Amino acid sequence: MLNLCDVQTMKTLLEAAGFRFSKAKGQNFLTAAWVPERIAEEAGADEAAAVLEIGPGFGALTQQLCLRAAKVLAIEVDQTLRPVLKQTVGAFDNLEIQYADAMKLDLAALVKERFAGLRPLACANLPYYITSPVLTKLLESKAFESVTVMVQKEVAQRICAGPGTADYSAFTVFCNYHAVPEILFEVPASCFMPQPKVTSAVLTLRTRREPPCEIPDEALFFRVVRAAFAQRRKTLPNALAAGFPERTKDELTERIVSCGHKPTVRGETLSIPEFAALARAIAE
Ligand code: SAM
Repeated sequence: MLNLCDVQTMKTLLEAAGFRFSKAKGQNFLTAAWVPERIAEEAGADEAAAVLEIGPGFGALTQQLCLRAAKVLAIEVDQTLRPVLKQTVGAFDNLEIQYADAMKLDLAALVKERFAGLRPLACANLPYYITSPVLTKLLESKAFESVTVMVQKEVAQRICAGPGTADYSAFTVFCNYHAVPEILFEVPASCFMPQPKVTSAVLTLRTRREPPCEIPDEALFFRVVRAAFAQRRKTLPNALAAGFPERTKDELTERIVSCGHKPTVRGETLSIPEFAALARAIAE
């Protein structure tokens, strides 16, 4: 079996296909074999699982997923990788590769159609330029048991941050509403070709079957969260007044106080249950 993290093998095959690394497509390929092995292992890929991989690139992670899972569906936007992937992972009969922009696909429909009877997982070394939109799409699809991804270390820390910290954001709340995130391990820049300027981290998000607390109106909940973080230096009454122009500031302040907060509270200190309680109070 080809060592798909061997730099010489990579250079030879990529050059033969006329491939040029594209920064715009977030192309940093793994060159340390322990990384894709550990990601595939931690993702829980096994004979009962079907894995959606976004961005197979040269195929290092794809190979490790194919060795473990019943089925792998890989989505690659770059057509010039077609002859390369044919050589590196083309022999796996449990692999299907679609050449498409993952952002434009209906992931829930794909999973339903291709992964019937198997445990649906998502796994990827994500292109940095679309980390948040792809994660949003994967989680909103509600189609996966877990999502295991390599992202910039700072993004992983932001996703796992607690209320009241500088890293806590609307995206933190979004991810924790849909899943339980956990940082698994860090990957230094030296493990990639070309080397990125940042350290990466592998993160797993175990998706929740139920929201973490009572949230009758998901849209209103996220409207409150977005408003709170849109003006995070402002007090919560001021931030909500900007996000809910149809309500008076006095009314919003009264709802905030009814939830046990001071009018001087900042939105960035609220936990998910506290945002949920506030959304319920605003809905009344
Ligand atoms: N999985 C390989 C690895 O770990 O070595 C490559 C990872 S590289 C960081 C990201 C990959 O995602 C590239 O192959 C890139 O072409 C692909 N990609 C970028 N944007 C994409 C998109 N919108 N849809 C699908 N694939 C995309």
